[in-house]
Amino acid sequence: MSEDLHTSCCSPERGSDGCGEQRLGWHEYFMSVAHLISKRATCMRGHIGAVIVRDNNILSTGYNGAPSGLPHCNETNCKIYRSEHPDGTVEENCVNTIHAEINAIAQAAKHGVSIKDADIYITASPCIHCLKVLINVGIKTIYYDKPYKIEHISELLRLSGIRMVQVEVHNI
Ligand SMILES: [Zn+2]
Ligand SMILES: [Zn+2]
Repeated sequence: MSEDLHTSCCSPERGSDGCGEQRLGWHEYFMSVAHLISKRATCMRGHIGAVIVRDNNILSTGYNGAPSGLPHCNETNCKIYRSEHPDGTVEENCVNTIHAEINAIAQAAKHGVSIKDADIYITASPCIHCLKVLINVGIKTIYYDKPYKIEHISELLRLSGIRMVQVEVHNI
């Protein structure tokens, strides 16, 4: 179900402003915003950013970190737990942290913003737990930059029919 969409300076997504400069395409624009948001992340396990978009408007954003008002990992250190995937591979996660996608959904819920039929841009492909929630809030297409254990979510992607498309951005 996943497909590659490699945007580049010669992509048809990009137009010209008439002055010889390349104009940023929408996919690169939102993925670049996701990368900027990831710079607010506080978990040392990794810095991830997410942007929920519909009709080229940003509805909500999120990055991975501790719940509001609680100490962040960069102040107290990560608390790592291990879990075993059914295929036998061991995964490590941080118990302090809410993932970027879930924080973006939480922000939308807090402010009463519907995200049904929206798309999400995430700097890395979602874990299986976040993917399940993205399916249930009605996300249509997941755009991701860096692949993260896609083999763990491939069956769920196939069964759910949710689209997942890679958008690589450079020079971030
Ligand atoms: Zn952490
Ligand atoms: Zn996740």
